[in-house]
Amino acid sequence: MTPAAPAVRIDAVTVFYGEVVGLSQVSLELSPGIVGIVGPNGSGKTTLMRVLVGLLQPREGHVQVLGGSPFADAEVRAQITLVPASENFYPNLSGRKNLEVAFLAQGLPRAEARARAELGLERIGLVADGPRHYGTWSRGMRQRLKLGLALANDSPVVLLDEPFLGVDPPNRHALREHILALGNAGKVVLVSSHILHEIEALTDRVGVLANGRLLGFGRLDQLLSELRDDHPHRIRLRVDAPRPLAVELLSLEHVRELRILGEDSLEFTTVKPDEAYRDLPAVVVRTGAVVRDVRSDDHSLENVFREVTASGSRRL
Ligand code: ADP
Repeated sequence: MTPAAPAVRIDAVTVFYGEVVGLSQVSLELSPGIVGIVGPNGSGKTTLMRVLVGLLQPREGHVQVLGGSPFADAEVRAQITLVPASENFYPNLSGRKNLEVAFLAQGLPRAEARARAELGLERIGLVADGPRHYGTWSRGMRQRLKLGLALANDSPVVLLDEPFLGVDPPNRHALREHILALGNAGKVVLVSSHILHEIEALTDRVGVLANGRLLGFGRLDQLLSELRDDHPHRIRLRVDAPRPLAVELLSLEHVRELRILGEDSLEFTTVKPDEAYRDLPAVVVRTGAVVRDVRSDDHSLENVFREVTASGSRRL
């Protein structure tokens, strides 16, 4: 690998689960430091991580990690730690024993596994809780224990799938510090979340996924600045008599284009989706229209940002 080559590079990767699209033509490059992947549930974040760790072979495209293929090359795979969203620890074993078992399963000799379990506990700041049954640990501590595996392994590539899921604020702070430390240590760290704020606290480099497609990748402030222009948002209605409703909708200041689609539906774009959804019920009542369905299949970057921005507390 030449010094300029990115540690991780995927080109036009497409993954299918039967008929379901997991990822569609995703390309990205990662170098040391933290990158966030945000996207709603089902957008392909876990699939991306599975591809990067070699658990899934893409139907199309190319995956290269540390100069090799994680799918074909066990040595490459051994350099990547995936911390999955789910837990695989045993409730009746202590936290320490659980780490030890996990390291044994990775093929380490017992003495080494034991030493590494201790190191993992140290690095997550939970040595005192190590002897306690895992079943008694809080959700936040459990997430930290998973991270202990990654921290003790010293892998150059660390993939963290939804590490903050269900974590209480004190543990959240500790978890954030651990992840920042991984980035500062020069590792390639990919962190996924369906909540943008969790990622913002770690890094300004993000990729935005929706429906298996990477809608944007780069610095968060740049991605957000692209959204500041009024970006049209498309809404489709199934309605008994579309014409009177169309006239009313066109009188709204924020509605741009409107098309009547046959006898029972219409579609319009608005530059103020929040206002459109707020105004819609009153307009419908005024015209006496019978609306059977309202949907937006708009997977624009702005729309996805709206979804991943918890409770709209960040203005877009
Ligand atoms: P995320 O991690 O963002 O929630 P996933 O990568 O888990 O998204 O899922 C992406 C898409 O692939 C979703 O439509 C999901 O239902 C589908 N999918 C994921 N895993 C499987 C599977 N094992 N079998 C079938 N479909 C799957």
